[in-house]
Amino acid sequence: MNEEYRGVWVFIEETDGEIAGVSLELLGAGRNLANKLEVPLAGVLLGDGVKSLCSIVIEYGADEVYVIDDPVLKHYRTEPFMTGVNMLCQKYKPEIFLYGATPNGKDLASAVATDLSTGLTADTTMLDVDVEKRLLEASRPAFGGNIMATILCKKHKPQMATVRPKVMKALTREKGRTGKIIEESISLKEEEVRTKVLKIVRDVGKKVNLAEAHIIVAGGKGLGDEKGFQLIHELANVLGGTVGASRDVVEAGWISHDYQVGQTGETVTPKLYFAIGISGAIQHVVGMKNSEMIIAINKDPNAPIFDVATYGIVGDALEILPKLIELFRNT
Ligand code: FAD
Repeated sequence: MNEEYRGVWVFIEETDGEIAGVSLELLGAGRNLANKLEVPLAGVLLGDGVKSLCSIVIEYGADEVYVIDDPVLKHYRTEPFMTGVNMLCQKYKPEIFLYGATPNGKDLASAVATDLSTGLTADTTMLDVDVEKRLLEASRPAFGGNIMATILCKKHKPQMATVRPKVMKALTREKGRTGKIIEESISLKEEEVRTKVLKIVRDVGKKVNLAEAHIIVAGGKGLGDEKGFQLIHELANVLGGTVGASRDVVEAGWISHDYQVGQTGETVTPKLYFAIGISGAIQHVVGMKNSEMIIAINKDPNAPIFDVATYGIVGDALEILPKLIELFRNT
């Protein structure tokens, strides 16, 4: 039954006419898989007024682009995007389908996988393919990053994975590269969609320049939730410093990726770096270990962050931070 499935697809995420970086990275990774399997690489583009972007998708490595251009797809919503993508999957039967592990990519991929009754490997960091068995080998860290697990979807197609941003490499844009554009339409009408976009609130905060900052107050998952993380903003504010974050915080949506420190974020060398509620995973430490002074606050005395810290405070950040904020506010 599965022999009829063919081709590697990449979901192209678009906002306000701009293609997400992760989609271009996935075209790079997808090109490699498609070459090994000797099948075409396709981009899947849904949106309103997006047809002009097809040539860019092709210039970044796709052989073809499936495009649905319709006002109902103006803003990302699960229902219309899932309807469009599922229709394309049922009609054209891709063998492999990759999505960026962004909030929208994760949401869409899980909805599509559920609807098509296929598997999904989330948060992949490595991709390969067993050509003989035609199996996608999607690997991701497991057990707190201590092992890499390679996950196979043996019985169902398409084989799907979400892939973390900034781990794959985009190809260099080849201007004038040609490919095929397949236009499709969506049957869903606006009045049939159950979710409505009432208002778009844009993050108008100024672009952070972590690399230039002298003081960085970085927070991790140990802050508990977005409200706890607010204390990081407050301390940074009273110190005249810049906020930084671990990747888990970024993935939880407490702050944007612009603030991430580490292997897949910024590398920083401030005079003073606070690591608060951050465990000290190697991927974080490589991005901040050359700071002149590191002050770590963690309730676990054995947290690896203390290995690189100049000074360490063992305790509950949610109790310590208000006191520090008060202290620095009054000095
Ligand atoms: P956790 O690991 O959950 O640690 C939370 C810490 O808070 C713990 O040490 C805990 O003891 C402490 N804590 C809990 N409650 C409190 C409290 N009340 N008070 C004080 N302390 C408390 N990570 C990055 O940061 N940057 C990257 O660029 C990055 N790139 C990656 C790239 C790859 C390919 C991979 C596989 C991973 C990458 N990671 C990166 C993720 C990294 O491995 C860790 O998962 C991440 O850094 C953990 O974030 P955290 O320390 O905030 O959370």
